[in-house]
Amino acid sequence: MRDLLIRSSLEVLYFSGAHWLFRRSWGGVGAIVTLHHVRPARDEPFQPNRSLEVTPEFIDGFIRACRRQGFEFVSLDEMHYRLKSRAFGSRLICLTFDDAYRDTLQFAYPIMKRHDVPFAIYIPTSFPDRSGYLWWLTLEAVVAASDYIDLPNEYAVRRMSCRTPAQKWRAINMIHSVLCAGSEKRLREIVGQIAVRAGVTPFTSDDSLCMSWQELADLAADPLVTIGAHTVNHPRLRKEITPVAWSEMAESVARIKAMLGLSPKHFAYPFGAPSAAGPREFAMARELGFKTAVTTRPGVLFPEHRGHLTALPRISLNGQFQRPRYMTVLTSGVATALSNRFQRLNVSH
Ligand SMILES: [Zn+2]
Repeated sequence: MRDLLIRSSLEVLYFSGAHWLFRRSWGGVGAIVTLHHVRPARDEPFQPNRSLEVTPEFIDGFIRACRRQGFEFVSLDEMHYRLKSRAFGSRLICLTFDDAYRDTLQFAYPIMKRHDVPFAIYIPTSFPDRSGYLWWLTLEAVVAASDYIDLPNEYAVRRMSCRTPAQKWRAINMIHSVLCAGSEKRLREIVGQIAVRAGVTPFTSDDSLCMSWQELADLAADPLVTIGAHTVNHPRLRKEITPVAWSEMAESVARIKAMLGLSPKHFAYPFGAPSAAGPREFAMARELGFKTAVTTRPGVLFPEHRGHLTALPRISLNGQFQRPRYMTVLTSGVATALSNRFQRLNVSH
């Protein structure tokens, strides 16, 4: 329902032409775009993580459309330089890929090469170390495979039916909201337990899903590619005590240095919403010496962000809205201006 509302308001904004009026005051100087999976569409009816993937054709069309509209694709270093030095010419776009999935190499990289577009990859180091646990994919598989799911005693809702796609959507939204309210450790334990009961093998960061260090080293050698850090275990940092959050960030830098021989200067907060990254994390990223750190708080870049380089907003290329005209509206800044209640910065909480 929420998706339907977003989609229709994007349509209204597009067809009313309002985004053109907004662009001058709300389009800012550019945008950082978030991507996760890039792969051909699948047709299962139940794909709760669908919002995290787009097709190769969509990316290709998006790049062409942005260039036609005069956007310039730049690296994170270049974006940082322009914000710091207030050197704004054409509006810029940085493409960023989170989690170092294999499909970034398989499907996205050839498109980036063809169009000569710089991009960044944020690596959670446990993924190429093959000790990562992708609980969100595990949960999706459990709900897809189950007729019902039992949660432990501590929760008010105990048993959830999930026979039909509608019930599965309700169940996964409910499980997400109750588990995400608690600690990171408990969330991972419970998803592990319900996976065992459902006979589902947990998703780990294996070869089929995630790139290896060797593949990442090959990509890192390409001047188009910026390697960024994304913690070790991909936790919601704000849920962790300070020393744990700090070591998640610092050790991911050390591990990338050891494995790729480079020191990452850019960071992405896992999940990146206010519930996962806030002022404490923004300060840590500054202290660790990152040039930039990105959230998933929606927004375009304004000159004022030069004072908040470790709390940058991004726009998600969302698999639910795979039409170039939606992106025209999103990059105009009008949609994010509305969601931020017309405040340019959204960094204080
Ligand atoms: Zn991530």
